[in-house]
Amino acid sequence: MALADVPRLPLAHLPTPLEPLPRLSAYLGGPRILVKRDDCTGLAMGGNKTRKLEFLMAEARAGGADTIVTIGGVQSNHVRQTAAAAARAGLSCHLVLARAVPWDEPAYEVSGNVQLDHLLGAQVHLLPRGTERGGALQRIAKALRSQGKKPYVIPSGGSNPTGAMGYVACAMELAEQAQAGGEKIDYLIHATGSGGTQAGLIAGYHALGSQTQVLGIDITADRAEIAAKVRAIARDTVSQLAPGTALPKAAVQIIEGHAGSAYGMPTEQMRDAVRLVARLEGLILDPVYTGKAMAGLIGLVRQGRFAADQTIVFLHTGGMPGLFAYTSYFQNE
Ligand SMILES: *Cc1c(COP(=O)(O)O)cnc(C)c1O
Repeated sequence: MALADVPRLPLAHLPTPLEPLPRLSAYLGGPRILVKRDDCTGLAMGGNKTRKLEFLMAEARAGGADTIVTIGGVQSNHVRQTAAAAARAGLSCHLVLARAVPWDEPAYEVSGNVQLDHLLGAQVHLLPRGTERGGALQRIAKALRSQGKKPYVIPSGGSNPTGAMGYVACAMELAEQAQAGGEKIDYLIHATGSGGTQAGLIAGYHALGSQTQVLGIDITADRAEIAAKVRAIARDTVSQLAPGTALPKAAVQIIEGHAGSAYGMPTEQMRDAVRLVARLEGLILDPVYTGKAMAGLIGLVRQGRFAADQTIVFLHTGGMPGLFAYTSYFQNE
């Protein structure tokens, strides 16, 4: 099946810009670094989930759903973008928020993404700490069905083969931009969390026969689990897009060591990276994903992973509303 044949609901501002980061490149003294601005996808403050939602919402519509249900952490960017997509489609939306991060700043449960979820009119179900997520999601979906609703359940992060199509499309968009700009992209680097972004990119580049390598920076502190997820979704996606071809095992590359103690817990390297990029390039990253991914990129440059004549693209996946849930961590400097 060609990507163009997959049902899609336009939600994102596309193509997102591809911009050089000359001052960061000079500061690090390594390869040429560009940024792919998926923080600028445009839906309710943007981010990577918007691309996935173009395909997920089309599937929801086609199946006659009247309600969208999804799940994430309290400061989930995915649930915020899902609430916006549901509002745009005129569907009601239930968000199941798990208290997964032991971060006790007062802003954490009211500011940033949570504030936007409420503003977007979603019904928010805040789970007590320790509740098993999958079971809670199914219970809420079942309750909606028993009220006569037709819920469409989106998994955490929108990460399944349907959502991953959004990042197949991104790989193709980036390949076109690179070609038009005379760029050869050696590496694409981004934060990997629930796996759909990396899986879609890998599947997209595989279908194109591209040499670009995708490096996912683990922000979950569970490398084995994220690697298995990426592989499973990428294989499923490849079997739809390029049936009969096999995805090489080496295509899934996960870089560990930058997640800190747990998902969502800040690290000093993250804070340094967020400050550095803000002060050199005027570009705002986030504390949970892109700040840790940038710390990973900087670590790889310093380890000499890239040659000076190579070009690497940092995929900015959004997440900036989350900054406001970590206000105290960024004070005083
Ligand atoms: C969800 C998210 C990611 C990770 O994408 P996955 O597809 O879940 O791996 C990265 N950055 C931000 C800002 C996100 O919200």
